Amino acid sequence: MTPSRSIAVFAVTLAACASHKSAPDATAAAAAKKTAPAPAAAPALAAAPAAAVANNPFFEASPLPLEYPPFDRIHDADYAPGFEAGMAAHLKEIEAIAKDPAPPTFENTIVAMEKSGSLLGRVQRTFGNLNGANGNPEMQKVEVQMAPKLAAHRDAIFLDPALFARVDGLYQKRAQLGLDPESLQLLERYETVFVRAGAQLSAADKEKLKEMNKELSSLTTKFRQNILKATKESAVVVDDEHELTGLSKQQIGAAAEAAKTRGLTGKWIVTLQNTTIQPPLEQMKNRSLRERVFKASVARGQGGDADNTAVAVRMATVRAQKAALFGAPNWAAYTLVEETAGTPAAVNDMLGKLAPAALKKAKKDAADLQKLIDAEAKKKHTASFKLAAWDWAFYEQQLRKQRFHFDDADVKPYFELNRVLQDGVFYAAGQLYGISFKERKDLPVYQEDVRVFDVIDADGSNLGIFMADYYKRDNKNGGAWMNTYVSQSDLLNHKPLAANHLNINKPAPGEPTLLTFEEVTTMFHEFGHALHGLFSKVKYPQLSMSVPRDFVEYPSQFNEMWARDPKVLANFAKHHVTGVAMPKALFDNVIAAQNFNSGYATTEYLSAAMLDQSWHQLALSDIPQAAQVAGFDDAALEKAGIFYPPIPPRYHSTYFSHIFAGGYSAAYYAYIWSEVLARDTGQWFTRHGGLTRENGDKFRSEVLSRGRTREPRVLFEEFYGGPPTIEPLLEYKGLSTPAAKHGGGGRTSTK
Ligand SMILES: [Zn+2]
Repeated sequence: MTPSRSIAVFAVTLAACASHKSAPDATAAAAAKKTAPAPAAAPALAAAPAAAVANNPFFEASPLPLEYPPFDRIHDADYAPGFEAGMAAHLKEIEAIAKDPAPPTFENTIVAMEKSGSLLGRVQRTFGNLNGANGNPEMQKVEVQMAPKLAAHRDAIFLDPALFARVDGLYQKRAQLGLDPESLQLLERYETVFVRAGAQLSAADKEKLKEMNKELSSLTTKFRQNILKATKESAVVVDDEHELTGLSKQQIGAAAEAAKTRGLTGKWIVTLQNTTIQPPLEQMKNRSLRERVFKASVARGQGGDADNTAVAVRMATVRAQKAALFGAPNWAAYTLVEETAGTPAAVNDMLGKLAPAALKKAKKDAADLQKLIDAEAKKKHTASFKLAAWDWAFYEQQLRKQRFHFDDADVKPYFELNRVLQDGVFYAAGQLYGISFKERKDLPVYQEDVRVFDVIDADGSNLGIFMADYYKRDNKNGGAWMNTYVSQSDLLNHKPLAANHLNINKPAPGEPTLLTFEEVTTMFHEFGHALHGLFSKVKYPQLSMSVPRDFVEYPSQFNEMWARDPKVLANFAKHHVTGVAMPKALFDNVIAAQNFNSGYATTEYLSAAMLDQSWHQLALSDIPQAAQVAGFDDAALEKAGIFYPPIPPRYHSTYFSHIFAGGYSAAYYAYIWSEVLARDTGQWFTRHGGLTRENGDKFRSEVLSRGRTREPRVLFEEFYGGPPTIEPLLEYKGLSTPAAKHGGGGRTSTK
């Protein structure tokens, strides 16, 4: 997952590492909507009831180092009054700026807004982070209660004509203001954010926009609820236990249990998850059951009482209308202006170049799977059959077992959590950037497993604080993500406080925590996000972390490469009992196994990304009717040149939450776009001697420290020396040559 990169109500950006493997959830999205930090402000206090103020830890800046949240003093009952008072105080500050009798200046308007909203920022960041990492029903209630209020709060600011008049007036004469480049960028960002929120529209159009936003918001909820319902109702009922051959005893027991809870005692139920391909397909030996499960999965949301066809069509329609309101030809064009890619053409070009390489590898793999199917049929004296979508995972598993002779139990003893952290993650950062880490136990934590580290810069100064929350808990969101409790800003004198969250199973007391290589990679990935936050060296909070969706996963995916760097690996991959280094042959096998199915994984991802673009590049007049949605997907994939029935898209339209119920409309491509930048950068490092301070310092000063002080595309191109190229990514994923190539890698599960 990715970090939340938004500042304030002023820039809404991304949720942390919202995996393309699972839909971004509401909590992550809430965590993403941060507020601009500001000075320990006074006006806030006036707005809150006296009793609530007395002991509410949010009402003043934390007295702890770097304004570290006073977790031991925060109670659930503090959030709602914190939000209410925070919004009231913020509006008051904004009103004072809008009504300032003095003519607008950069200082009294833009800088003043940067300084506003400190209380709201504190409560919003802490609440968002804890709600995801250590939530409870009380906090969920607060989330539901606050969501519409925060949306209205945002509208009250961006649709305020007096405020926009000041911003726009400054923007129009920006060349004469004598601003330094970062201040100029800030002014341009403010203008952009206001304009995109509708500030320039006529009063009548503003009303239309508000209606559209409201409708889109309820359609989003409707879509999500329909998926939940359809996914539940589409669970496959099995009458005969023999049909389940291949599943483990526990899985069969769980299937019987699931049936019982639905009043189907004596039967079994195969429940579904959100993706097209269902995990049990890789184990199920019964081909007709595989087919039933697959067909139940793809039919979700088409017809019945949880029909999403009309919802998707209506959303596409309203989005196209909204784009038109802003003069854009379609929703993708409206959305992509804010991204690194910039235009639909650039996205189409990148996806179009990647697709043939992925398909080529996939079709070669399909031929191997077909051979396996034929051989099996011959052995059993049965008729062979043609590889179908519901067969791929099953035969891929068979082939994998034939080719790679290891399992997790062989690998995990070499990856002990603390050693991976200290001698791997921290070691690599030390080699590259000269930073070091010192654990501290004096600060309060919200849960006993959370660890806190001072991050010390090469010159001995304190750079910020890093928090590590690695273990799985029932009250923690799934996946992995990074977020910040305090974002860096020179203006506010704020040093960063970045936190990583994973979901590693906690061992029994006294036992070591042993990781899979995927989990190791995830630790490096999330730490890449943390470094992006920790190295931020900007003046304005707005520019610290508000980077586009297709840039957010760049520093994190780049940092993954150090998990497999020979020097780093030699430093941390040691047997937890004997201390013996991991055998090279075993590690090479781990990497080769990761790349084994990359043709399939990349094709199913690209298909979904292209489907997303197909919907959102439609002109209003080309949007299909609800009855045509079923055929729309295949036709769109055919047109995009990636239609290949054995590999369906990761999500079909009617259950594609990322684009119809999450924040990824026209942006599902962002994961692979960021990865292209990451692999290009990796190749640049390799060309320049790899793990060195010189390379690290250059990357830090030109990319990691820059936030959005310049447009991300420019930051990348100036560092890399040109526009992105796809070859390093193809090589990393083992897609560039027909032979399995060592040194490549698959994607991690947590992006
Ligand atoms: Zn991420």
